[in-house]
Amino acid sequence: MNKGVFLLAPGGSFEMAKQAFLNGADGVYVGLYGWSRRTKEYELKMEEIERIVILAEDLGKKVRVALNTAFSSLEYHMFRHSIKRLSDIGVHGVILNDAGAVVVVKEIDPSMEVHISAGMNAINIEDMWFYRELGADMVVAPCNLKLDEIREIKKLIPIGIEVFLHSNTCFTYLGKCLMSSYFRYEWSLDEYGKNHFLGSPNRGGYCHRICKANWFSEKGKVILRNDMFLAFDSLEDWIDAGVDCLKIQGREYNPSLVGEIVRFYRQVLDEILTHGFIPDKDRFKRRLLELSEKRDRERNRRTFKVLEELAEGSSVSL
Ligand code: SF4
Repeated sequence: MNKGVFLLAPGGSFEMAKQAFLNGADGVYVGLYGWSRRTKEYELKMEEIERIVILAEDLGKKVRVALNTAFSSLEYHMFRHSIKRLSDIGVHGVILNDAGAVVVVKEIDPSMEVHISAGMNAINIEDMWFYRELGADMVVAPCNLKLDEIREIKKLIPIGIEVFLHSNTCFTYLGKCLMSSYFRYEWSLDEYGKNHFLGSPNRGGYCHRICKANWFSEKGKVILRNDMFLAFDSLEDWIDAGVDCLKIQGREYNPSLVGEIVRFYRQVLDEILTHGFIPDKDRFKRRLLELSEKRDRERNRRTFKVLEELAEGSSVSL
């Protein structure tokens, strides 16, 4: 049993990060403005990240910053500059989606922890070795990885493994779905001169959740699969397999909901670390279902909004 398992929560705002810390998260991840796989409203500017780092240090917590879009050669100087600034303000780690960027970060600050984003699809042992040799410390495993695969990786490779506690699986590996890009083929420069391809979260835009739109064939409505992944049912086994970090998604949720979710998982994790299992698991499961309903309501609101934006000027119906 990995007693040092780390609970990582979203920090879509200062308030959310504070709620996450106060409810038991070991650290938060935040998105640097213009560089992460979320829209700007859930990303933070350098000054806001610095405030969260100061709070984290006071409370003995950690801050990881997502710069997990792919960027062009012309944007590398901005990336280097951002990494230097993040290092100066005391950020503990970054989440990346570009192999070259791993090397650059380690050149600038060898003590900066590097996480390989789920979008990089490290799906097998050779991928994990590749990222380990580049200098990565942790890999975010795609939800499609099985427990046995995680066990094997942990046995053979000295690298941390992070898993999502609750996530949509997407119809292929996360980060490889291009559906949004076909429907929103549009670029925009931000105020810092960085170019964003608005149809793709991989290039500074966002996923328009095309799989959730209403699709029809001549036979009627077509449901596109996007099953939910929930680690709770076998969480003891994931921890026993050697998982190092459990990640809660939701930079776009309400901070108080994030606080409730963090508190729930803190209790669950403490039970597992104390007893090796979750006593009264049915009671926890009922609580989780209540939280999932709240989460789904917020998620569905967001889905409706992004589909509505997309529907203006395209053939997608709602
Ligand atoms: S469109 Fe659907 S399947 Fe594709 S990335 Fe978005 S949520 Fe996942």
